[in-house]
Order: sequence, then C-alpha cells, then structure tokens
Amino acid sequence: MEKTVFSRIIDGEIPSVKLHEDDQCIVILDINPVEKGHALVIAKHPYPTFSDCPAATLSHMMEVAKQVDAMERKILKCDGTNILINNGKASGQEVPHLHIHVIPRYFNDGQSFGFHKQTYQDGEMAELGGKLSF
Ligand code: AMP
Repeated sequence: MEKTVFSRIIDGEIPSVKLHEDDQCIVILDINPVEKGHALVIAKHPYPTFSDCPAATLSHMMEVAKQVDAMERKILKCDGTNILINNGKASGQEVPHLHIHVIPRYFNDGQSFGFHKQTYQDGEMAELGGKLSF
C-alpha cells in the first residue's frame, strides 16, 4: 500500500514542524491551520482510522492531545480548543492515517463548524436510543 503523507513525515522523507515525538506518536503543526498553532497528534503506526486503532494507543494519543491542549492554552493564550478526529472519508477525513486535531480557539475568532443540526420526530429519539444502547 502507498505510504501516507504522515508516514512519509514520520520516516523523514518530507519536512514538518515537529513539536513532540515518542514511541507511539508524533505531534506536528498542521500545514493549513484553522488557527495558527493547529496541531496534529499522529499515530506512528498507520492505522487508517480511529476505528482501526487499539484502545491503548488511542488512550496514549489522547494523553498527548491533553498535553497539546495545555501547551496551546499556555503559549498561545487561546480561550479553548477543538479536539477532533475525522473518522473515515464520509466524515471528511482526507489523510487515511489516524490523527487527532488540536485546534486553538479564541472568543470571537469567527470560526464555526459547518454542521446542520436536525430534530427528531415524536418518539424517534427514544426508539433510536433503544437500538443504539450497549
Ligand atoms: P483530515 O481531513 O482529518 O484527514 O486532516 C488532514 C490534515 O492534514 C489537514 O488539516 C491538512 O491540512 C493536514 N496536512 C496535510 N498534509 C500535511 C503536511 N505535509 N504537513 C502538515 N499537515 C498536513
């Protein structure tokens, strides 16, 4: 299978601005940031999606994302962060190699998600909840 852009970064074949590296992941700056300082926590193993990745690795990556959040709040003085994973092409995932976005956010930064929220019909929510319970 062809290497992802992130595997090429991990292998040093293309440059990146690296903020952190350990045995399981790296943290780099996103090349097209939503806000400057937007970072990506990238699994070293090229799991294509969140769904493919073992829970222990996800747990480690979330701990690292927590450190990135703390760093962005401290250094960039951001007011909050969006921490998100696009999970599969249908969700907007462009690079099929697991990564967590940590995006600095500021009051009045003018950013927003493009989601259109829906409503449930009478009884639909409870019925769906019944099907989805685990
Ligand atoms: P996603 O849509 O969740 O797969 O996000 C992929 C992210 O990778 C995007 O935000 C891109 O801007 C970012 N990206 C793609 N190529 C590079 C690169 N060479 N260095 C840093 N970030 C990149």
